[in-house]
Amino acid sequence: MTIRAVHHLSCATMCPLAGRWFGMTGAGLGRGLMVAHCVVVETERDGLVLIDTGFGTRDCTGETHIARTFRALAGPRLDVAETALAQIEALGYAAADLRHIVVTHLDLDHAGGLSDFPDAKVHLHAREHAAAMARSTAKERERYVPAQWAHGPKWETYEEAGDTWRGLPAITRLRGLDADLGLVPMHGHSRGHSAVIVKQGDRWLAHAGDAYFHHGAVDGTDHVPVGFRVFESTVQIDKRARLASVAALRQLRASYADVDLFCAHDPSELAALQARSAARAA
Ligand SMILES: [Zn+2]
Repeated sequence: MTIRAVHHLSCATMCPLAGRWFGMTGAGLGRGLMVAHCVVVETERDGLVLIDTGFGTRDCTGETHIARTFRALAGPRLDVAETALAQIEALGYAAADLRHIVVTHLDLDHAGGLSDFPDAKVHLHAREHAAAMARSTAKERERYVPAQWAHGPKWETYEEAGDTWRGLPAITRLRGLDADLGLVPMHGHSRGHSAVIVKQGDRWLAHAGDAYFHHGAVDGTDHVPVGFRVFESTVQIDKRARLASVAALRQLRASYADVDLFCAHDPSELAALQARSAARAA
């Protein structure tokens, strides 16, 4: 047993324009609601592990200069109390207890918390790291904010090397981590976007990041609010790869009852997993 406990947090709240297009019934032209689902894993041997980071302290204080257009469209709350650091301290830990971060990708709403844990190793797919460092297209110059990693993180990058998880190409061992944690490449949203898997007891959590945005994309209903469809198409770097990733996740969910699949921004998926954690702890 290498994992003691898992905490599901939201490390950012975003209130996008035109909430009705994001499935917020009754919101009219008011704003929608998106969370930034992050996971804190307490391991027995390797300290705390954080999966995705939301926004960090320096985003909230304005030091990373998040673009005005993003702030106008996405409506991030940028509240220090929502940062992973503040929430980890509220759990009774210190920043130094967090030794590893695993990120689905490096978009600004996933990488902001990196600088709150400057000594942590940051594990991610090599293609994502390369894309974020190169910022070779206009879209990538918007989505990646180098000020979020100006402190020089201890990057640990990975490529597929023949391992699989549930029939999908996967990286199943992360350097320096004994726990069952891995990366499952789900490219398309960005060049190296990957799901992060972690085993808790006899179940697996699969954090799909931004491979999809609304549970309707993977639950068999295909009921995805139009706002998310437009947004996904606008930000994707590779449409064919993104659609293949969504299809693989839909198949995963349909085929394996012991996998809890969730994405980064769906409040209902976060609430369901928080409720399950609370029931487990009771
Ligand atoms: Zn995102």
